[in-house]
Amino acid sequence: MFLIIRKREPLRQSPSRKSKSTSQTIYQISIYSSRAVLNRLLTMEEKSSSKTQGKAIRCKAAVCRKPGEALVIEEIMVAPPMPGEVRVRIICTSLCHSDITFWKMKDPPAIFPTIFGHEAVGVVESVGEDVDEVSEGDVVIPTFMSVCGECADCISKKSNLCSKYPFKICPWMPRYETSRFTDLKGQVLYHFIFVSSFSEYTVVDVCNVTKIDPAVPPNRACLLSCGISTGFGAAWKTAEVEKGSTVAIFGLGSIGLAVAEGARLCGAARIIGVDINPNKFEFGKKFGVTDFVNAANCGSKSVSQVINEMSGGGADYCFECVGLASLVHEAYACCRLG
Ligand SMILES: [Zn+2]
Ligand SMILES: [Zn+2]
Repeated sequence: MFLIIRKREPLRQSPSRKSKSTSQTIYQISIYSSRAVLNRLLTMEEKSSSKTQGKAIRCKAAVCRKPGEALVIEEIMVAPPMPGEVRVRIICTSLCHSDITFWKMKDPPAIFPTIFGHEAVGVVESVGEDVDEVSEGDVVIPTFMSVCGECADCISKKSNLCSKYPFKICPWMPRYETSRFTDLKGQVLYHFIFVSSFSEYTVVDVCNVTKIDPAVPPNRACLLSCGISTGFGAAWKTAEVEKGSTVAIFGLGSIGLAVAEGARLCGAARIIGVDINPNKFEFGKKFGVTDFVNAANCGSKSVSQVINEMSGGGADYCFECVGLASLVHEAYACCRLG
């Protein structure tokens, strides 16, 4: 769960964060960090895409056949992109906790067999008709939130929830409701939140890719797909943290640290990190955390009491980045009045 509370306004959960809610922990599962490796991959892409364009690609993917079962590396077929779609060679992907949440889920909206993964970076192998936003060889990050760039919500500065291709947990591509994945027996494999990056190749809608500077190391770029943008964007875009303000962050996992970084760049004067692991403070300092509250070591006081005392009446912005109802209550209780 991800919640921003500002100065005791009515509780509200940012709808744009709902889907990203449980991504607190990121484990790197594949790293190609050197620029030289990326350059080699880009060159390979240019050479290979002319052979593969318009054809199905046989490649490997980590397929999950049943909820809670180990993912198995299988050979699969990835169909060419339809109009408005992009086929991407994944060069680095990471594991977000939302993947685990859906991996365990026995009932809909989870559906199997599926290919998980939604934090990644890759190189465009080929594009379908009517795609001119990206082209072969571009380095892109897939995003599960669509941006058509045309609808009222994409144009609005108040929202990033595209209404033309709204986010939903569905096993298909966003505009055709079909899959681009099959196993070698011809059985359909389902997509996961429009990304499915646990595959050497995936197909995403052009509204679900963002071109990035290839100079960004891939093992960091992939984190922009979900965890980092969720936290950073919450401080920067959703809360619009002001210069000189005091911020409290509950949970210094990847999202919490990204909130700290966003708040720091917005000019927050004081950033109070709350966690039960004291080692997080040293780590948090690198992201702008100035004060630390060990939630397991507050004695007879509640965390909110400690923060209220430290800040002389509460923080201007509180970010709950763990997903615990009790912490939401605590975060609300140490928001400054007014
Ligand atoms: Zn839109
Ligand atoms: Zn995620």
